[in-house]
Amino acid sequence: MKIEKDTAVTLLIKIADATGKLIDEGKDPAVYLHGGYDNIFPKVEAALDGREPGYQVTLPLLPEDGFGQRDDSLLRTIPKAEFPPGVKVGGQLQGVNDAGAEQIYHVLKIKGDTVYLDGNHPLAGRELRVSLKVTDVRAASAEEIAHKHVHGEHGHHH
Ligand SMILES: [Zn+2]
Repeated sequence: MKIEKDTAVTLLIKIADATGKLIDEGKDPAVYLHGGYDNIFPKVEAALDGREPGYQVTLPLLPEDGFGQRDDSLLRTIPKAEFPPGVKVGGQLQGVNDAGAEQIYHVLKIKGDTVYLDGNHPLAGRELRVSLKVTDVRAASAEEIAHKHVHGEHGHHH
């Protein structure tokens, strides 16, 4: 079936940088609800609209079309004494940003008694090439449409 509004689309997504160097080989399929539900980047939805399983495309993705620009206000340091045990460099922890919203921080490095954190998405500010392969298209259920996301394998669990 064709990808149209209120279909559940299963995709293999590979992400490379602008030179073609692979960043994420996308072994696990992703599934999203098509039709402007903000489940996936609008540029990706536009490229897939009307396509069928087997369709493949590689799209250039600028930061504004993808993970956004880097925001230096999301860089912060905390004293090592406040650092939760068990979190390592390369890991993540949840905190609150300057605007008071919950924010995931990536642990960049620990130097002396200071821990350096970055709340930016690791791919923010990067020009990317996204390769998409449609592996399945099905009609979404009424419940999925009401929830504005896909359920089941690779979908939303709750
Ligand atoms: Zn749901």
